[in-house]
Amino acid sequence: MSSTAVEVGQRIRAARTRRGWSQAELAARLAGQPTPTAISYWESGRRSVGLDDLIELARVLGLGISELLPDPREQRPVGALLRAVAEQVDAQQLAEQLEAFAKDAEQRPRPSLLWEVAPASPRDTAEALLIAAGVKQPPVRIEELVAGCGILIHPWDFEDVDGLMVNLESGPVVWVNKTQAQTRQRFTLAHELGHKLLQHFDRFHLEFGNELSQHATGSHPEFDWRAERAANDFAANLLMPAVMVREAFAQNEDAQTLAALFKVSPAAMGFRLVNLRLTEPAF
Ligand SMILES: [Zn+2]
Repeated sequence: MSSTAVEVGQRIRAARTRRGWSQAELAARLAGQPTPTAISYWESGRRSVGLDDLIELARVLGLGISELLPDPREQRPVGALLRAVAEQVDAQQLAEQLEAFAKDAEQRPRPSLLWEVAPASPRDTAEALLIAAGVKQPPVRIEELVAGCGILIHPWDFEDVDGLMVNLESGPVVWVNKTQAQTRQRFTLAHELGHKLLQHFDRFHLEFGNELSQHATGSHPEFDWRAERAANDFAANLLMPAVMVREAFAQNEDAQTLAALFKVSPAAMGFRLVNLRLTEPAF
């Protein structure tokens, strides 16, 4: 979700509650009769409000359109935005932690930027980075690649989040869930790096863990599957480069062995072998 959508959503919610209306009451007043669920998506920032709806919302709420829009001259601190997102999925504790995380990460020394890679297709971007970094054999040292892209890896403790990438004023910061398997952490790091290099977000991207995502993104109609798929595609190409997988496969065809060599999960390696047409899909 974009930070603009989150800010507009907060303004809609504030204006609605000032009037004492429920989401259903607001929906019923709007021309076009959106569902209360649509209102809830707008308010949480999970769906961007279109121009026609914005004009209609302003009319019904008795506001000027600009009152529903953030002022581009004053950017809210990103910690506060992260907090707002977590509050909207009713994760109060997480909201506080996210804000504290942003504050703490802002003080940390930054890694130096070694490689700059222009966004292209997920595969081309991953391959360009591997070439720039001179990576020639598995396992790909993902932490070094992330740091070399100028991204700070900052440890923290969020139970409900799988991964997080955020552009702070001091620079980009990534976090992964250390309670998960090493192979999963490596994949999440590569996935977040993909979001960053492919320029999928403006200020932050948050991967909610199972419980919250069921609550927050479960059947969300405009959840950006394309961006998620592209980030996964990038991660697969980065951690399991085609040339290296083919070379290793020529020596040993066992997916478990290859997975251990590349430090990825057997499932991830299984998909990769099928994608590279080295093995048949298992039915
Ligand atoms: Zn993602």
